Amino acid sequence: MTLSPAIPHISADLTKETRHALASKLGAAGLRVTEPRLRLAHLLFRHGDRHVTAEALRDEAQASGLKVSQATVYNTLNQFQAAGLLRQVQVDQARSYFDTNIDMHHHFYVEQEARLIDIAANAVEVARLPDSPKGYDVDRVEVIIRLDKADSTSDKP
Ligand SMILES: [Zn+2]
Repeated sequence: MTLSPAIPHISADLTKETRHALASKLGAAGLRVTEPRLRLAHLLFRHGDRHVTAEALRDEAQASGLKVSQATVYNTLNQFQAAGLLRQVQVDQARSYFDTNIDMHHHFYVEQEARLIDIAANAVEVARLPDSPKGYDVDRVEVIIRLDKADSTSDKP
């Protein structure tokens, strides 16, 4: 996965074909196609797999000339998530990312850079889990490995 710069350029590349493809994607997920949803979907999905916060997406929307409120962005992201187009990765109580990679996978989280990095599902093996409380089944196990940036002044071998 390559990381693109934070702010993409004006969404002049929202061509008729792209609109049509995105409208199909939204429709297939059971979502009504609206202009804000189309434009936000375009910003979200045009650069491949990525992790984005609601705040960052709003900044991108504004930079691309789309005037939407933070609430609209937040609602749209939640609707996309509920429809299975995104997954939410809750890093801590204050920070939540929306992930366009909806396949099962895990994450590194770099605190200092507020950045998530994908880990392939098969790269993590959970050897032992406790018994679930009575009446509950494990849905899935998602691992977040928190990273500290290595101190470049220390000279570890
Ligand atoms: Zn991810």
